[in-house]
Amino acid sequence: MKRIAVFPGSFDPITKGHEDIVKRSVPLFDQVVVAIGINSSKNYFFSLEKRMEFIRKTFENEPRIQVESYSGLTIEFCKSIGAQFILRGLRTSADFEFERGIAQMNKAMATGIETVFMLTAPGLSAINSTIVRDILRYGGDAAQFVPDCIELK
Ligand code: ADP
Repeated sequence: MKRIAVFPGSFDPITKGHEDIVKRSVPLFDQVVVAIGINSSKNYFFSLEKRMEFIRKTFENEPRIQVESYSGLTIEFCKSIGAQFILRGLRTSADFEFERGIAQMNKAMATGIETVFMLTAPGLSAINSTIVRDILRYGGDAAQFVPDCIELK
């Protein structure tokens, strides 16, 4: 059976932190699906198409990494594509507390799906999409925080 992991998030936009987690996870799985969750009550900075394009470009030379979008529960999306793992990155203890609740509730609802956590690389733990968006909103240059191939336009 193929080992498929879903890396869910907003990726508004994808950062070097996300890129690092996905690349480091590739040896663990046969396929890693970067999955953009669509939440209709959230306002996004970049359109879904743009966010997907950024991710596709970032991993264009990695055949085992795909990009998808989904709405609804992450566990239902996992089941629909036969994924047995949810991948999440941990930057801080606050991330851990938040993620623990979600992972434990997901486990209760879908016993066959395991959440796997990877610690952020030390140099990338400060990077977060919210701050990247704030920099862009005020006309700053956020290029150093996003994958090298991406032009934030
Ligand atoms: P969400 O809206 O679900 O938090 P994000 O797009 O912000 O989605 O993040 C998706 C995943 O990437 C989460 O598991 C988050 O903890 C992880 N992540 C975000 N930034 C970093 C980073 N700098 N280093 C490692 N993991 C990160």
